[in-house]
Amino acid sequence: MSSPRHDGSDGSGNLTCPSCDKPRTAGQYLCPACWFALTAETRASLNKRDGLALTRLRELVDQLGRSDWVPLDRIEVTP
Ligand SMILES: [Zn+2]
Repeated sequence: MSSPRHDGSDGSGNLTCPSCDKPRTAGQYLCPACWFALTAETRASLNKRDGLALTRLRELVDQLGRSDWVPLDRIEVTP
């Protein structure tokens, strides 16, 4: 049993964008609009599927969840 979190799902199994809460596709971190608002560098890093992939996802979600909202084109993750 997990408590409600801003982690990209709505609690009933539907995947939502952690940035704007619109539907997203399984396997995608964000909906297309938010994904392409990220910088190409950030997208390239997030597309890597190495040992740091989960770390990058946490960095992304952390920045999306901040009270001092970080614009999508300002989000940076581990390269
Ligand atoms: Zn979105």
